[in-house]
Amino acid sequence: MTVCFFPQRKNMSIPTVQLSTGAVIPLLGLGTWKSAPGQVQQAVEVAIDNGYRHIDCAHAYRNEKEVGAGISSRIQKGVVKREDLFIVSKLWNNYHDQENVKPAFMESLTNLHLTYLDVYLMHSPMGTKLNKQSGEVEFSDVDYTDTWKEMEKLVDEGLVKAIGVSNFNVGQLERLQSMCRINPAVNQVELHPYLTQPKLVQYCKTNGIVLTAYSPFGSPDSPFVQCDKQRLLEDPVISAIGKKYGKTNAHVLLLYHVQRGVTVIPKSVTPVRIIQNAQIFDFSLSDDDIKTLEGLNRNWRSAKWDVSGLPSHKFYPFKED
Ligand code: NDP
Repeated sequence: MTVCFFPQRKNMSIPTVQLSTGAVIPLLGLGTWKSAPGQVQQAVEVAIDNGYRHIDCAHAYRNEKEVGAGISSRIQKGVVKREDLFIVSKLWNNYHDQENVKPAFMESLTNLHLTYLDVYLMHSPMGTKLNKQSGEVEFSDVDYTDTWKEMEKLVDEGLVKAIGVSNFNVGQLERLQSMCRINPAVNQVELHPYLTQPKLVQYCKTNGIVLTAYSPFGSPDSPFVQCDKQRLLEDPVISAIGKKYGKTNAHVLLLYHVQRGVTVIPKSVTPVRIIQNAQIFDFSLSDDDIKTLEGLNRNWRSAKWDVSGLPSHKFYPFKED
């Protein structure tokens, strides 16, 4: 795995890691889940103005048009060229059927005002469908390996540079890799010191799959974790590490990934935080710091996907824990 660090400067280049396709992905990106449509355009603009080049999007976030407006405004202003950006979106669970994959992809592409994506991810291995009469989410029988074959066609057509997955466990990656024509370039999963997933991290490393860490702060604004909020941003052990370097918990939590070549996509709509979250390339965590952070693991997930009966889906990915 090649990780390239550049010296820090204003509007610095954010370090990158190489995908199996040969393309490079910036190690820090902007997350956009829960970013209100009225706020996300500005968030994307502030991010791009301050050196971010990687934006994480999804059909399911219902804000791709506004994300696209932010991207377009910065391209039109000459702040950035399309080829310098790294735009990721995701195929939602309701569109796993063969005939739905390309239309769902095209909808994201159109909403984002783009002609290609850098990575398209399968949002999860669990296919579902919406019962139009009852409004209920039902399970679909479609196998994620069949969905993957349709995603491979998007690469063949030049619509996307690389494809990947999200929320896949080791068994599902093994199964996909044993059948696919194009290897998944990325697996985007929840990762932070309370959920270190060493087996999955090792599997991805040895199989040429770049990991993207989602919810690096434990998703404090998630609507799904009201009862068992965990406070990574206030954890005193993490604060003690940050204090040594004059850094915040957020900085430590982001560098924890970046330093080992895991890309990370903190969400914020607050300009000052978007800027601060990129100020992590002027310090290093020691081996002891990393050991301490890993010692905080408690296999706690903010995103359990325990809605609509999904834990009984045959491809529910979190049974391995
Ligand atoms: P994060 O762990 O990134 O936390 C976001 C929260 O942290 C927001 O409330 C934000 O507030 C706050 N915040 C951001 N920066 C700071 C800071 N420096 N200090 C204090 N608070 C801060 O949560 P997400 O769950 O949103 O994960 C990040 C991204 O990962 C998502 O937005 C999405 O793009 C992706 N994701 C992917 C999933 C998948 O299934 N593939 C699932 C979940 C997330 P504010 O915005 O108000 O500044």
